[in-house]
Amino acid sequence: MKVVYHPRYEEVYSSDPASRAGRMEAILKEVSPHFEVIMAEPATVEDIRLVHSDEHITYIQRMGLTYEVALLAVGGAIKTAELAVSGEPSFGLVRPPGHHASRNHCWGFCFFNNMAISIAKLRKENRIKKALIVDIDLHFGDGTDNVFRGVSDVIYFHPEGQDRRTFAESISQFLGQVRADVVAVSAGFDRHEHDWGGLLKTEDYETIGKLVKGFAQRVCRGRRYGVLEGGYNHDVLGKNVKALLEGMS
Ligand SMILES: [Zn+2]
Repeated sequence: MKVVYHPRYEEVYSSDPASRAGRMEAILKEVSPHFEVIMAEPATVEDIRLVHSDEHITYIQRMGLTYEVALLAVGGAIKTAELAVSGEPSFGLVRPPGHHASRNHCWGFCFFNNMAISIAKLRKENRIKKALIVDIDLHFGDGTDNVFRGVSDVIYFHPEGQDRRTFAESISQFLGQVRADVVAVSAGFDRHEHDWGGLLKTEDYETIGKLVKGFAQRVCRGRRYGVLEGGYNHDVLGKNVKALLEGMS
């Protein structure tokens, strides 16, 4: 399991909670002793155009620092996806997050859709045909859903559950019904019991990681990756990311 990162993700580019000081450092501290860390490179505008309109790109470009860090986040997700399809399970420890970014607009601390662009690029380069995105963030990834609406070869799944058990069961059940060439986790951690959602325990992220790994080994030659979305309690975020990575690896 490799972790794709860049020190510039630590820059405070905005006043939103995804950009808060210390968030990335808290995660890196937990995962870097256990997993090899690889440096991200910025995406190109051509990459961003796979998903976003020129108007949207211009709008984000005017944000200066946010644009620079967002390009690096997309580049990190692309590198993570490329590693995964080369047979190396990987995790993109990136920010800003992306799943609320649609072709022509964005909200919810997102600017460019890291996950959607990474999948679109794999498909454009014919490295995969069919993809499954499992979004475990507390919030529905309307951006990702919008981008791939009507694209039958990209499945977007946002599990729900009344409690920890039914949440994991909904993932397990869904994974039993679908096929794909790669599975990608939009990994938000804001459903944790000490975060906004108040539902999952740290060990549940390991369970989810194992479900994803099992699916990948059964269905898509082990090809699996994750990209960070939400998660805002710095006291537990690092342990939760580590738990998911241990499950997936
Ligand atoms: Zn969220």
